[in-house]
Order: sequence, then C-alpha cells, then structure tokens
Amino acid sequence: MKAILITGGGSGIGRAVAARFSREGWRVGLADIDPAGLAATAALLPADRTSTHRMDVRDAGEWEHVLAEFVEGGDGRLDVLFNNAGIAAGGAFGDMPLDTLDRVLDVNFRGVAYGARLAYPYLKATPGSCLLNTASASAIYGSAGLAAYSATKFAVRGLTEALDGEWAADGIRVRSLMPGFIDTPLLSVAVDGGNRSARDTVVEAGLEFTPVETVADLAWDAVHGDRVHMLVGKTARRLAFAARWMPGRLRKMMRSPRR
Ligand code: NAD
Repeated sequence: MKAILITGGGSGIGRAVAARFSREGWRVGLADIDPAGLAATAALLPADRTSTHRMDVRDAGEWEHVLAEFVEGGDGRLDVLFNNAGIAAGGAFGDMPLDTLDRVLDVNFRGVAYGARLAYPYLKATPGSCLLNTASASAIYGSAGLAAYSATKFAVRGLTEALDGEWAADGIRVRSLMPGFIDTPLLSVAVDGGNRSARDTVVEAGLEFTPVETVADLAWDAVHGDRVHMLVGKTARRLAFAARWMPGRLRKMMRSPRR
C-alpha cells in the first residue's frame, strides 16, 4: 500500500491532502504540533490505514523518530513526504520581534530542510517516491508586508529546484506547491499593524480564495506529474505571469503603501 506522511496534517491544506490521498487508498501519516487538530483529521479517515504523530518540525530528533515509526509501522515504504507545516507572520519587517522572526525561519525553512534531509534514505529506498514541499505564491515575487514569510518560501522553492536536480539520479521526484490564497486558519494572521487579518486584505482587494479541495487535487497532480512547481489559483498564476513579463509593475505594486 502506498504511503504519504503529511506535516501540518492537523489543519487546512494538510487535512485536505490527507483526505484526497486516503480516498485513493493510500496509507496516511498525519504529523502536527497540534494534538486536537491531528485527532480531528484522523476522525475523517479510515482508522486502519491512518496514524497520527505529534511532532514539532523544528526538532530533528522528532523527525527521525516519526519517520522511523511511520515507515516501520507500514510496509517499509515512504512514497511521498508532504513537507507542508508552516506559519505566517505579517506586518512591517522593521518592527518584527526577533522571536517571531526566528519562529518563521525555523518552522518554514529549517523544518522543511530537516524533513527533506532525514526522509532522504526512506525516499531513496522507495521506487517512484516524491518529496512535495509547500512553498507559496509568495515565492514568485518578494511580498512586501510578508517579508520573512516570503523569504522562507523562496528558500523552499530553491531547495525544491536543487533537490529535483540532485535526487533525479536516485529516482526521487521533488515538487513544490505554490498556492495563492486558501481560506485556512493561517490567514487569521494580523497584518497592517494588527488592524486587519490577511483574510481581510484578500477580501478587500477582491481577490479569490481557492477551495482547499482544489489544492488537494493539484497536490495529487503535482506528485504524479512532471512540473517542478505547481501554481495553485488565479492569483498565483497572475503573479507568475507578471513576474515574468511585467516585473516593473510588480515592483511598483510592492512599493505602494496600500497594496
Ligand atoms: P493551517 O494553519 O491551517 O495549517 C498549518 C498546520 O501546521 C497547523 O495544523 C499547525 O498546527 C501546523 N504546524 C505549525 N507549526 C508547526 C510545527 N512547528 N510543527 C508541526 N506542525 C506545525 O495553514 P495552511 O494554510 O493549511 O498551511 C499549510 C501550508 O500552506 C503552510 O506551509 C503555508 O505557508 C502554506 N500556504 C498557505 C496559504 C494560504 O493561503 N492558506 C497560501 C500559500 C501557502
């Protein structure tokens, strides 16, 4: 039976991707720092091929333990690691408390890099395996107002491209998801000096939310297709187009006080 381990499996995108792969008959491992979220996702899935693993992606020892527990608890396979846990932090970079900056860098990049590095032997031992990292549309052009977050997502993008090259010889495919806006708890993060949430700014700007089920379908396609980066949603596709053909306009937009 094919097996996927999902970080951030206790909420949002991770939960939807868990449901999608489970529906296809896969064994699903849910890893998250939030035990209530893990239980809520597990309740949606068949108990005989779902496992939950409480872990903090910032901790290499926890990664080693959970990877071994998940792979040895099944048929010894790791077909997909969905390296998806992430947090947002908005607001002016110049005012960001250093502990917030550390947390964003650690969860969004160190956690992803640890996952990739420590899952490597398991992925290498599983024919046709895939590492799927959740980047963001913020990895297409640096996002003013989300500078630290955006920078970590560029790092995830870079890691994805580098490992897609490096691990091709091992038969491991490496992919990223680049979602625009998905209506999950992550968008409750305060922006604009704490006056608004990221969700409010999406609504005010008249931008769309992509349904989480669409993200899950595209995660399935990303794992089974050949594209290194999977753009998710209209905003992501428009940003990618603008970054390629009208970077000056994007720069101007990022420099305007009200984006
Ligand atoms: P979410 O808040 O619904 O889910 C994130 C999950 O990650 C939560 O269950 C949380 O408990 C878990 N998590 C946080 N820190 C962790 C840690 N240290 N160790 C283990 N688990 C941890 O958000 P989501 O929207 O589903 O986000 C999933 C991924 O998608 C993130 O990487 C996010 O940056 C990315 N993303 C989201 C959007 C969006 O609009 N929602 C857009 C682009 C990219």
